[in-house]
Amino acid sequence: MKGLAGKNALITGASSGIGQAIAIRLAQEGCNVAINYRKSIEEAQDTEMMAMQAACGQVEGCGVRSLLVQGDVSQEADILSMVNTVVETFGSLDILVNNAGIQKESPSHETSTQDFDQVLGVNLRGAFLCARETIKHCLSQGHPGIIINVSSVHESIPRPMYASYSISKGGMENLTKTLALEYAARGIRVNAVAPGATITPINQDWIDHPEKQARVESHIPMARAGTPEEMAASVAFLASDDASYITGQTLFIDGGLTLYADFREAWSA
Ligand code: NAD
Repeated sequence: MKGLAGKNALITGASSGIGQAIAIRLAQEGCNVAINYRKSIEEAQDTEMMAMQAACGQVEGCGVRSLLVQGDVSQEADILSMVNTVVETFGSLDILVNNAGIQKESPSHETSTQDFDQVLGVNLRGAFLCARETIKHCLSQGHPGIIINVSSVHESIPRPMYASYSISKGGMENLTKTLALEYAARGIRVNAVAPGATITPINQDWIDHPEKQARVESHIPMARAGTPEEMAASVAFLASDDASYITGQTLFIDGGLTLYADFREAWSA
């Protein structure tokens, strides 16, 4: 894809799932890639460390540079230091992918303030702060910037039992549009991808159970869950110069989930 070679990218929450696939795909397109992970080396499980080291190996196998950068995106100090480290190591930061995300299930009337704040703190406030620091850097250096938010189909489909998650992704849609409008004339494009059900650790409770997975997939017009690589391909496109005239948009990558699958057959007569 046009315009990605030699660029420097930071992907939050890139130690697993969609974030890891984005890191590898951007490296394949010629970007140097900073992989943000949340837990300190001491906290991370051996398997997580091995997965991150393997991802770095794959990134470097593409002939580009990789950087592992620890930081909790719900902590402002971590974000400042993370962006600083990337700029100091790579020389600049051109592409930010706000991918880190969590979800917590509970009936809304029983949701604790702490859980609500934690989900919003990672998914929405964290994305805003990472974007703010990236924009500040791009403006101060006078170079263009690309921000891509990993949202969800739940930015538009309400999700009972996951109000904090739905609200965070709904806010992300507005974050995408507001920043896109505010910085369009200064060379910064802001877009989002909205995955549908995707095979990643966040969905561990159904991906290990064929019956549960079949139930999830029965709601998807294309009759299957998506892959992290399919999400990463769209991020690479939006980050590239092939998308040079696109800003403020959310691209739904959901096998048709947002087409109202229950209307496949007429039921209103
Ligand atoms: P995942 O659990 O593998 O990835 C989430 C990543 O975020 C993990 O690497 C985790 O360590 C990281 N993270 C969590 N809290 C963090 C913090 N405070 N600071 C830094 N990193 C943190 O699951 P995934 O499916 O790859 O999720 C990636 C993104 O995709 C999320 O934003 C999620 O909401 C979104 N998404 C996923 C699906 C899906 O079906 N898998 C659907 C729609 C949207």
